[in-house]
Amino acid sequence: MKVLFVGDGQLGQMLGASGIGYGHECLLYSTRTQEVKPLSAHVSLPWTLTEAIAWADVVSWEHEAIPADVIAAAHDKFLMDPSRIKSLTDRRAEKKLFDDCRVATSPWQSYGTPAELEKLLRQTTQPLVLKAARGGYDGKGQWRFRPGDDIAECVAEAGKEPGIAEHLIPFEKEVSLVGARGKDGSVRCYPLTTNVHTQGILSYSLGGIDVVPEALQKQAEQAFHRLTDALSYVGVFAIEFFVVEASGQTQLLINEVAPRVHNSGHWTMSGANCSQFDLHMRALTGMPFPELRIEPTLMLNVIGAKQIPAGLWHHQDAQCHWYNKEPRPGRKVGHVNVRTANPDTALSWVKQWAEKLQLLA
Ligand code: ATP
Ligand code: MG
Ligand code: MG
Repeated sequence: MKVLFVGDGQLGQMLGASGIGYGHECLLYSTRTQEVKPLSAHVSLPWTLTEAIAWADVVSWEHEAIPADVIAAAHDKFLMDPSRIKSLTDRRAEKKLFDDCRVATSPWQSYGTPAELEKLLRQTTQPLVLKAARGGYDGKGQWRFRPGDDIAECVAEAGKEPGIAEHLIPFEKEVSLVGARGKDGSVRCYPLTTNVHTQGILSYSLGGIDVVPEALQKQAEQAFHRLTDALSYVGVFAIEFFVVEASGQTQLLINEVAPRVHNSGHWTMSGANCSQFDLHMRALTGMPFPELRIEPTLMLNVIGAKQIPAGLWHHQDAQCHWYNKEPRPGRKVGHVNVRTANPDTALSWVKQWAEKLQLLA
């Protein structure tokens, strides 16, 4: 089949590589430069967006900010309504979806103006996290507020744009569920992945290493079904949760969703019989999902580093991925997967390599 992906970042590249492995033809459309690109940087393709859409059998995306002109021109080539995906780029719509689907989330309110934010800050008795409604990623566009903090200072920063204010959650840890829903409604999910963030950026994920109680996996998959059914979603979808202890019970609170392949699913490239990229390709092309078999795997992000040290490229236990991006502090430029079922081994890898591989802002 011929597949056009909206977005040409690392997720698009990895989706395309999977597609090629299945024998499909894939193009990426850069929403930044408005260029249509083949997967090899050495081939030039003087195609317009209109020609690429006409060429494609199916159009999908690596990021949810799908431009209006693509939605209009390609609407019959998407396997689901792309405007539903785009609506999730606004945190107000996203949180409302959680409430509508009865998926427990941190209590929240929205604000549209600095005056509304100020009122909300005056009234709160809770520590809050303020998040810009649009455009935030890797912890950008977020502010913390505790009762007693300087309100005017906070409003001057966070009140520049509309946003949401939600309770700060004293979580035990963070986990994510990555799975896929097919056009026929069938669903496959990987086990919950434990994620550790540094300065709001995903530092590493433990895929299948840090086993969570069966009840949590069930709760997460119920949320997956509710949300993806409500969206009539087709493809890979990721959900980030906080694990909290409430009256002696462990529970999940949803933080946010990513209607696409997700960084916390990169471990599946080494640790599963079918990676998240392969699952997405199968969903797009109507291929059945296999039963998922996994091998516990650590995924360590490469952030801002100029290169991955040769010692890792040559290491028999490390699978290195380099995104060929210009390194900047705080920018994800690669990742390293290491298969191990032993949490201590995984943490010793993190201890040995995280500082060398991660240059944060
Ligand atoms: P991503 O890169 O995952 O898309 P993002 O910028 O969209 O990140 P969030 O996932 O909402 O932002 O927040 C980033 C991190 O900040 C979370 O993983 C979590 O560690 C922390 N965080 C966010 N909201 C809360 C909250 N309500 N309570 C406690 N910590 C929070
Ligand atoms: Mg996010
Ligand atoms: Mg997040």
